[in-house]
Amino acid sequence: MKTFAMMVLGCKVNDYEATYLRRKMLERYEEVSFKDKADIYIIFTCCVTNIAEAKTRKMLHRARNTNPDAYIVAIGCLSQIKGDTEDFKDVDLIIGSTRKDEVYDLINQHFQDNLVEELKDPGFEDLYLDTYPGKSRAFLKIQDGCNQYCAYCIIPYARGSERSAQHENIIKQAKVLSETSKELVLTGIHTGRYFDGEYHLYELLRDLEKIDDLKTIRLSSIEMNEVNDGIVAMIKNSGRIAHHLHIPVQSCSNEILTLMNRPYTIEEYTDRIAYIRKEIPDISISTDLIVGFPGETDEIFEKTLANLKKIRFSFIHVFPYARKKGTAADKLDVHLPNSVKKSRVNRVIEIEKGITKEFRKSFIGKQLEMLIEKKEEEYVYGYVKQYFYVKAYGKGEIGDIVKVRIDSVNDDEVIGNVTE
Ligand code: SF4
Repeated sequence: MKTFAMMVLGCKVNDYEATYLRRKMLERYEEVSFKDKADIYIIFTCCVTNIAEAKTRKMLHRARNTNPDAYIVAIGCLSQIKGDTEDFKDVDLIIGSTRKDEVYDLINQHFQDNLVEELKDPGFEDLYLDTYPGKSRAFLKIQDGCNQYCAYCIIPYARGSERSAQHENIIKQAKVLSETSKELVLTGIHTGRYFDGEYHLYELLRDLEKIDDLKTIRLSSIEMNEVNDGIVAMIKNSGRIAHHLHIPVQSCSNEILTLMNRPYTIEEYTDRIAYIRKEIPDISISTDLIVGFPGETDEIFEKTLANLKKIRFSFIHVFPYARKKGTAADKLDVHLPNSVKKSRVNRVIEIEKGITKEFRKSFIGKQLEMLIEKKEEEYVYGYVKQYFYVKAYGKGEIGDIVKVRIDSVNDDEVIGNVTE
């Protein structure tokens, strides 16, 4: 329960008004002495004498010094006449001689502004959007929360446990969004764990595919164990699900994967990627990678680099490990200096650049589907289904899906031609 402390200076009118407010406050807050630390300080001010004024100022300072984070309320005569002066700079709510009946509600409102609740078994909150104004690509949140507790990650604590949207609501919303956006990105914290009773991601993709206006369905990110054979077959046989999967690997060393509490070995991960590529040869597989995790020796890092060269991701989001209070990894012994993490990030970027370019070059001469996001002079721009950005010579409208032939790839851009 939050606490309040009250100081009443001046006359009986102040006393009367203070008594009324105290009664209201006690319905919800606990009163403590003005000398003690409180969450809220309420001062009924007085200006009848210089001494009363000085005393008011002293009480305002004392409140701020006792608890620098407190919410301070000043009410009454001195507030009315000097509320806009330097003396009141530390006051959060200044009420003069009117609106005193609103003080209790205003205090409550301030504390309710912070609507952070304890995350005990939260339900899925449907935040219904019927359009993404100005966007060719619409996001649709289907899932929230995570039960995996990877050692470095604060998300399960911040977002709570897994929960999913009802599939009927997703389909309904997808139909409405598809009227204005041809591409839909299914998002969540742990999207692959989508469930609505016996209805999982596979069933959801199957039903979204039936929406005529939806030309591209994209998965934002999915864990390796969740790209099962059914999902792979669904992507392979679909004309609409994008040939791009973002599958976070996080480390390419088994020692570190175990410390991270990731549920696979690097061999299992590599085998799954090989299977997906065998089934869908033009698929783009990108990843997230953390370097400088506690215990990542030079030797382990070199192994990670060697594995990256073998797996050949289409692009990598590489992050230096960052300590998060409350996570299991924060309690590990050997934390690495930032300089080491930084240099490892740079080495990964160096390797990634070449591989990314090679991957894009493999599409030269081929036709890919592109969602137009921008038009400039005689060019249109957008992401192809394999999720790289293309500048294509030709015509089209923003939001259209066109076919482009890839003509050239350099360090900065991929150039193509609109063919259909
Ligand atoms: S990294 Fe992903 S899977 Fe692991 S705990 Fe965080 S949100 Fe969950």
